[in-house]
Amino acid sequence: MARLWNFSAGPSALPEAVLRQAAEEMLDWHGSGVSVMEMSHRGKHFVQICDEAEQDLRELLGVSDDYAVLFMQGGATAENAIVPMNLIGRRGAGAADYVLTGQWSVKSHKEAAKYGDVHVAASSGSETELDGKTQKPWTWVPPVETWKVRKNAAYLHFCSNETIGGVEIADWPTAGQLGVDDVPLVVDASSHFLSRHLDVSRTGMVYAGAQKNAGPAGVTVVVIRRDMIGHALPICPSAFDYANVAPEHSRFNTPPTYAIYIAGLVFKWIKAQGGVAAMERMNIAKSELLYGYLDNSGFYRNPVHAPARSRMNVPFVLADESLNDAFLKGADEAGLTQLKGHKSVGGMRASIYNAVPLEAVQALVAYMQDFERRHG
Ligand code: PMP
Repeated sequence: MARLWNFSAGPSALPEAVLRQAAEEMLDWHGSGVSVMEMSHRGKHFVQICDEAEQDLRELLGVSDDYAVLFMQGGATAENAIVPMNLIGRRGAGAADYVLTGQWSVKSHKEAAKYGDVHVAASSGSETELDGKTQKPWTWVPPVETWKVRKNAAYLHFCSNETIGGVEIADWPTAGQLGVDDVPLVVDASSHFLSRHLDVSRTGMVYAGAQKNAGPAGVTVVVIRRDMIGHALPICPSAFDYANVAPEHSRFNTPPTYAIYIAGLVFKWIKAQGGVAAMERMNIAKSELLYGYLDNSGFYRNPVHAPARSRMNVPFVLADESLNDAFLKGADEAGLTQLKGHKSVGGMRASIYNAVPLEAVQALVAYMQDFERRHG
């Protein structure tokens, strides 16, 4: 068996130890005589799996009981609608504000506009001058001081890691910085969830599709402050109303049981590695290695303003774009897979999530050096 170094943006690499354990437990989970896939979601075995997953995730994130932790369906895309359906009515006015930093936050904003009065608080969708250089649209983050948040907004939404552009917001603003008291942050953290310390306590809600750092596709993690729950619009489907899902511990209806089980194994794996702090140390080492190489090369280039660069998704272009196909073909031959950039931005993208080890990034940099030597 030969496993490749997998740089996919998602669904992406899972820890090999998790896959091996799942394989071992496939036919008979812990002497239950059945596979996790064959269990009732209300039976004691699955209830144990689901509750442990919730508990482990709470520990990893360090969230208090003021927050509910939910496992939902529909991915972050469905959450773009589920969020306004649940929250936009919370202050009566039906208003919400969005910060736009790339394609995913633009999509969230567009979807929310179906449900209320939605404003753009700030956007990086234009060129700007930063540190004496011109930054292209969606390669930078508008400074928090420039975010214009309405006082009556039910929430302020942003995407804390733009998976396509490779733009990350790691230091989440406080109410004081934003100059508004009761406008909770709602954060799409899909592609850097569990990769570094994130201050959930500054938010009203964080959500993440699991298929990057947290598990397989099919489950969406929602961490929501309990006072945010219970304001759903009448049109909100009952399976998507947090007020139904939270008291049932994600078992209001049949949840994606197998995906929750695998996510639970990933949470245990992260704990065994030393928790989110250990992931963060490793992710700093990996991203510094890759960006360090890119910045010292005239052959490759990352277009993102340095302070806004993502540790998880590293887009880069070759100075000579006619070499793109040769680069990708050679990478595949070297066992480095899924490096093609998103079709909207072109070039390359290396997604270096928690389950991508330092060794994989070393192999990538070695291949890039070799390619540069041969074609530079
Ligand atoms: N938000 C972000 C930041 C994403 O990376 C993605 C998927 N790549 C989505 C939202 C949409 O997620 P899904 O396809 O699971 O609906």
